[in-house]
Amino acid sequence: QVRVRFAPSPTGNLHVGGARTALFNYLYARSKGGKFVLRIEDTDLERSTKESEEAVLRDLSWLGLAWDEGPGVGGDYGPYRQSERNDLYKQYAEKLLQSGEVYRCFCSNEELEQMKEIAKEKQLPPVYSGKWAHATDEEVQQELSKGTPYTYRFRVPKEGSLTINDLIRGEVSWNLDTLGDFVIMRSNGQPVYNFCVTVDDATMAITHVIRAEEHLPNTLRQALIYKALGFPMPSFAHVSLILAPDRSKLSKRHGATSVGQYREMGYLPQSIVNYLALLGWSDGTNDEFFTLEQLVEKFSINRVNKSGAIFDSTKLRWMNGLHLKALPMEELIKTVGDQWKSSGILKESEGIFIEDAYKLLEGGIDVITDAEKLLSDLLSYPFHDTLSSSEGREMLEEGLIVVAESLLAAYDNGEFMSALEEGKSGWQKWVKAFGKSLKRKGKSLFMPLRVLLTGKLHGPDMGESIVLIHRAGTNEIVTPQLG
Ligand code: GLU
Repeated sequence: QVRVRFAPSPTGNLHVGGARTALFNYLYARSKGGKFVLRIEDTDLERSTKESEEAVLRDLSWLGLAWDEGPGVGGDYGPYRQSERNDLYKQYAEKLLQSGEVYRCFCSNEELEQMKEIAKEKQLPPVYSGKWAHATDEEVQQELSKGTPYTYRFRVPKEGSLTINDLIRGEVSWNLDTLGDFVIMRSNGQPVYNFCVTVDDATMAITHVIRAEEHLPNTLRQALIYKALGFPMPSFAHVSLILAPDRSKLSKRHGATSVGQYREMGYLPQSIVNYLALLGWSDGTNDEFFTLEQLVEKFSINRVNKSGAIFDSTKLRWMNGLHLKALPMEELIKTVGDQWKSSGILKESEGIFIEDAYKLLEGGIDVITDAEKLLSDLLSYPFHDTLSSSEGREMLEEGLIVVAESLLAAYDNGEFMSALEEGKSGWQKWVKAFGKSLKRKGKSLFMPLRVLLTGKLHGPDMGESIVLIHRAGTNEIVTPQLG
């Protein structure tokens, strides 16, 4: 039976990269009728936190990636947190010591430093010299009786190579001569990361290890430990990195990168799942819209691409729009309505209004939170004021067209825009001259201008407003909503 695992380190939020790894594991397990195991890799006690573990579990659940075994669910291969499995690691470390695959190394840190220096001088790779690899029983007993601290070192074959057949990358080989005997247990009794992972994967009967490409160097050590422990080797599949649009490593400076952030911004879990699946996988057609069930049906690890995938938040946004429109109308209207009410735009009572407003604005809504801005923009157009107040009526009757024609001319000959370029003083100079040429000042000048430029009878200082809107537009600070 297929058994795969997702093994997050609870040292932060669930990132899109981790979520995609989880998703591919989930899809593989479900498509093969296997088990999806969740294991918390909290051996780094300083960086691991309970809050982070809870956040990761919450985000996985929110995405709908239910695990069959793991924290909160249990299972036959527990415990599912590395911090609760120390006895097991010790037990296997002892086993390897007995069989001679591992030996005690009594080298001090100074000695190890020296070793590196010497290797450097001889222009050799900085590998362990093998000083304690062939120590006699007496030599070992002597150090033990002195109480000298020691690590457990894994005996690496000194020549030959190791090859795995990666399900995504094909054959991957390493030469063993430059690896050197590595530590699997520190002198304080703490097992080392690669050792824990291997013991866990072996004892949890994991058949397929699907994880990020950055773990490929670990796979060499883990494969050697597997062999030494005498467990059957799992299949490996190393998924490529997720890159930013500029092909650099995706990071915080590229915007939201954690699942939690997208949830808070109002994204739907099904659109994130759909989008993540397309980062490195396709079903072989041009289809892009998939539900989780459809993905389970169509997923195949052979179709996972080995080149890096670009994370494009604009496309994710678009995809969210597709999933939003696929929801039942009633559900949508309820969600949008709740949001409008809780943000205070609408009062409690507005029943059918919500449905009409949603249907009007629907085309502009990709993420549910877009609805808020669209409705408040819509409702901010106070045509009642313009048409019913005496100042509005006066302005419409006496001046709007005249002022509009001149404004258009000033825009076309570039005068208006270059005044705005100069900021507030440019505006002031221009508006004065503009008024003079029309023989207008005060209300009869500013009211029509304001209505023409902002659509409203009243608002903050008009000159400063217009200059700010202009700056925001040209600097792309915000995109002004053009009617
Ligand atoms: N704990 C590792 C991580 O969060 C994953 C290790 C693995 O999948 O083997 O990157």
